[in-house]
Amino acid sequence: MSKQQLDFETISVRGFSKGDKVTGAISYPIYQTATFKHPELNKSTGYDYSRTNNPTREEVENTLSLLEDGTGALAFSTGVAAISACIHLFKPNDHIIISEDLYGGTYRLFNDIYSVFGIKASFVDTSNLEEVKSAINKNTRCIFIETPSNPLMRVSDIKEISEICKKYNLLFIVDNTFLTPYLQKPISLGADIVIHSGTKFLGGHNDVLAGFLVVNNLEIYNKLKIIQNSIGATLSAFDSWLILRGLKTLSIRVKKAQENAIEVAKYLKENSKIENIYYVGLEDNLGYEVNLKQSKGFGSMISFRVKDKNIIPKILKDLKVISFAESLGGVESLITYPFTQTHVDMPNKLKEKLGVDERLLRLSVGIESIRDILNDLKSVLED
Ligand SMILES: *Cc1c(COP(=O)(O)O)cnc(C)c1O
Repeated sequence: MSKQQLDFETISVRGFSKGDKVTGAISYPIYQTATFKHPELNKSTGYDYSRTNNPTREEVENTLSLLEDGTGALAFSTGVAAISACIHLFKPNDHIIISEDLYGGTYRLFNDIYSVFGIKASFVDTSNLEEVKSAINKNTRCIFIETPSNPLMRVSDIKEISEICKKYNLLFIVDNTFLTPYLQKPISLGADIVIHSGTKFLGGHNDVLAGFLVVNNLEIYNKLKIIQNSIGATLSAFDSWLILRGLKTLSIRVKKAQENAIEVAKYLKENSKIENIYYVGLEDNLGYEVNLKQSKGFGSMISFRVKDKNIIPKILKDLKVISFAESLGGVESLITYPFTQTHVDMPNKLKEKLGVDERLLRLSVGIESIRDILNDLKSVLED
């Protein structure tokens, strides 16, 4: 796969192959087939069976790899399937250091599912480099971070952590779901594997589930390719096509959602019913400087804590433009309640330590009219 020649926006619109080479179709075809005919014994078109290889899936993998400055990418049926595939790189007694504030499903995977196989995880505040270093032991194989983190928007220093990983020979994995390659490119900052829940910004329309791994070298790619084919949670041809379509508008969606989010954050900051606001675009957010150094922007994810938890039911019931629903990164604005939704399987003690409490809400700002979004918030946050 050749290095990036064109600009990001151009690659995302045209895709890796710029449409179909055979017919000239501008939209890459959906190869809706389970299997492929062989011309004769010991000959293959390059495609044998769609779990192993499918042209539409390959197209979305190659396109995302270009956008993330990777060596190759692999597409999975969901984000957690992509994360699960990564875990198969490890063996019993291997130890992994993970951001403590992160997507609840990732926490559940490491803590509840893979701990049974003897893979040990330490959840630490990866925005604190001293904490990261002191968590390393002789069995540590990997550092896994999310930045900005979910839901508290903590920022971890990708470059600094990549230096630690080099020094101790650790694999470095970054979940880049929140900022997308349009705003942040972890591989260029030293990450080995970038994870995406393609369900979020890459798809962008709340209509498809997908997951991706983008890698920076062929050796890991080949290992993960075998894991992907063996476990089988691959992305279907149609869903690959939906992500290709989503990618075409990624830059303008991310830009517009961020513009809206900045306005929303300013409004929430001034509102007397709100105690704290977490948005990496606010100068007084803890990770503001580090985020600025390593990305081109702030994204559109905002969490906030209200002063009185009793207003939460009304907020969630009465919002009309913003929907009360899980997920994020789509054109529609969504609000979630991490305490009982995305982070329900995180132990109460950790939730308490992090501040994922009964007063915290998480907002994924969409691309609707900013006037309508603000009026919606005003209708539930002003008497
Ligand atoms: C949603 C999400 C995931 C999981 O992805 P699914 O597509 O829901 O399986 C992983 N990481 C982050 C940061 C997410 O927001």
